[in-house]
Amino acid sequence: MSRVVVVGGGFAGYCAAISARRAGAEVTVLARAPGATALYAGAMEVVDDLDAILKAEPHHPFTRLGLDSVRLTTELDTAIQALHLALEKGGLKFEGGWRTRGLYADIHGLARPGNLVPATVAGGELRALAGRRVAVVGVPQVGDYDAASTAQALREIHGIQAFAEDVAIADMPQSASLTDLYGRRAPALAKARAASIAYPPGFTALPPDSFELLASPPSPHGWRLQQTIGLGAVKAEVESLDSTNGRITSARAGDRTFRADAFVIATGHHIGGGIRGGRTAVEPLLGLGVFNDGRPVSSGSARLRHLEYLDAAAEMRSGLMTDKRLHPLDEDGGIPYSNLFAAGAVLGGYDYAGPCGFGVPLLTGWLAGEFAAKT
Ligand SMILES: Cc1cc2nc3c(=O)[nH]c(=O)nc-3n(C[C@H](O)[C@H](O)[C@H](O)COP(=O)(O)OP(=O)(O)OC[C@H]3O[C@@H](n4cnc5c(N)ncnc54)[C@H](O)[C@@H]3O)c2cc1C
Repeated sequence: MSRVVVVGGGFAGYCAAISARRAGAEVTVLARAPGATALYAGAMEVVDDLDAILKAEPHHPFTRLGLDSVRLTTELDTAIQALHLALEKGGLKFEGGWRTRGLYADIHGLARPGNLVPATVAGGELRALAGRRVAVVGVPQVGDYDAASTAQALREIHGIQAFAEDVAIADMPQSASLTDLYGRRAPALAKARAASIAYPPGFTALPPDSFELLASPPSPHGWRLQQTIGLGAVKAEVESLDSTNGRITSARAGDRTFRADAFVIATGHHIGGGIRGGRTAVEPLLGLGVFNDGRPVSSGSARLRHLEYLDAAAEMRSGLMTDKRLHPLDEDGGIPYSNLFAAGAVLGGYDYAGPCGFGVPLLTGWLAGEFAAKT
């Protein structure tokens, strides 16, 4: 049985671990702290238009896999099926797939797209609610959420017959914030004259015909996901990776050494710490090549222009570049380590807050785990 070490306990690391185990490997996930996964709003975007990506985005991690859309979608189907099972086993039920793309409201009533959503969010698909009566739960003491404004946005933007209804919650502090609701049992509505009830995010044990709104950080959806995927991970901060003859041999974390046959780095972008920002972005563990638009960021020619640094989208596309087997490249385009694979937001070439926000961690994690197990 081959041994695989995954560095990083976000969604990409989780997908890599599931698939490496499925391919027969013994897997250790090393995770130091929550990253971007713990901050997501509550609706996972997987992919919008795959054919358009393959046609027009040569540096996108999906395109770099060198697979046609039939093979990619087959892999997505298999990965998502395995994820549904694994997450549900961990206590978190999800709904949807990469082909389904719904719209879900955040706490301000604004819509965000999502392919995969927690079951507690799924009932809030906005097009399905059009024309229906929806009660938006308000908590008068909470200052950073206003159910009346949310209901107004649902009415005016989405054509839903929404109205706010306040609930009383015992021992709620005055000047409370949304985070004071997290983990409390959902209060029942006194009047209950709606077809559906929208709760601010964070309550537990929601009644039937109700749903949670999406969140902004700190997000209870993200926290629940991070808690679930963190089950079984080893808490460790990898400080260095040892290598010999072009192969990684071990990961070092404090006085612990983790040896394996193959390694997956799923260390995230700036928030996870897989890419360190600054004047020139670097990959801190191995000094792997960091690219923007296909060119190394360290070469003067690939420097982002001043205004592009201010444009989050341009800067966020910097990251590692991989070959068809997800081996990360060095700055010269070579493969420095034959048993090293990279997955998730540490990869460049796509907008990680965009329509593949979770799609890239999901698919590259899934494939990296399989490649690593078969090394
Ligand atoms: C604020 C915010 C909101 C978002 N909302 C959405 C959304 O609503 N929908 C959507 O589709 N996408 C969203 N995204 C994008 C999505 O959350 C990320 O793309 C995805 O979670 C990245 O997963 P990851 O596993 O690659 O990285 P991360 O989740 O960042 O995980 C990387 C992990 O690696 C660990 N790590 C790093 N270095 C080491 C080391 N040396 N040793 C051990 N561990 C290490 C980090 O601690 C971290 O836990 C959002 C992103 C952000 C920042």
